[in-house]
Amino acid sequence: MSESKLSEFAIIERYFKRPVAGVELGIGDDAAVISPTPDMQLVVSVDTLVSGRHFFENTNPYKLGQKSLAVNLSDMAAMGAKPRWVMLSLTLPENLIESHATWVNEFANGFHELAQVYQIALIGGDTTSGALNICVQIIGEIEKKRCLRRDGAKPDDDIWVSGYLGDAALALKHLLQEIRLTPREIEFCLPALLTPTARVDLGQHLVGLAHSAIDISDGLLADLGHVLTSSMCAAEINLEAVPCSAVMKQYMPSSLALECLLAGGDDYELCFTAPKKNRSKIERMTQSLPVPLVIIGEIKQGAGLSVIDTEGKEVTVVKRGYEHFTS
Ligand code: ADP
Ligand code: MG
Repeated sequence: MSESKLSEFAIIERYFKRPVAGVELGIGDDAAVISPTPDMQLVVSVDTLVSGRHFFENTNPYKLGQKSLAVNLSDMAAMGAKPRWVMLSLTLPENLIESHATWVNEFANGFHELAQVYQIALIGGDTTSGALNICVQIIGEIEKKRCLRRDGAKPDDDIWVSGYLGDAALALKHLLQEIRLTPREIEFCLPALLTPTARVDLGQHLVGLAHSAIDISDGLLADLGHVLTSSMCAAEINLEAVPCSAVMKQYMPSSLALECLLAGGDDYELCFTAPKKNRSKIERMTQSLPVPLVIIGEIKQGAGLSVIDTEGKEVTVVKRGYEHFTS
């Protein structure tokens, strides 16, 4: 059943405008007006998802709506900020504008559903036609000078990781037909790729406990590498301690599994460093959160990142992470 084509304004009105609380001026004017909480700092980030690069064009639109918000929430988590407002710039190809009643409707439903979970207001955006592209800007808040940064790691800090790494990369390799997972395995790994959970609560709980943090979007080695560069430190991680799911374990220690685990990307878990004296506080805090945390290594003086196996030998991983211009 085909529905008539809607104008840009009708699409915005029908699918994106929702009543929101706590916004002075939202969708419908030339710009939005928001009132930050007094004495808080704003934390702002933007992420673009490009069709054919970050997702397959035929990805379920509801899940895509969720993921495009989740990857931005993950940046707020990595800063320890509370997400408050979001803007959505959407470029839609003709066929999706024509099938708006399904595609745009589903996309918007997924987006709004996750926004509601975190009580975030969609306050504006842009809608254009062209190759499918989703750009989300998110604005959060944090108490002054409290945000978690990449440059705060100190020698002797524990290096912590949340959740399990590599399942999204395994699922992607399966979809690209580079490997063949069993139906049970792909069923397990696919949600990690399509609907990652941003560790928003964890990030806020780490304020005051962690010295530095980053979200793992391009692979553990690449992202921890950014922390080391910014903090001018080195690190040693124990391969055995890197958290892997039961599915991932079955593929270890093949080079394929190592690559997914350490350099896969799309994990959206947090990697943070914290002084050893905060271990028990962090362990206690994690009991109230739905995600496991483990220590995978230690920050050292110097430069460089080494991965050590159970025999104390250094593990070589050819690919360290995803980089848009050279990967
Ligand atoms: P302008 O011409 O000033 O750029 P637009 O016509 O693009 O304004 O947008 C009209 C209103 O709709 C604005 O408030 C804008 O923020 C909002 N908007 C446009 N696209 C979206 C979208 N995809 N999601 C949410 N709000 C949107
Ligand atoms: Mg516009």
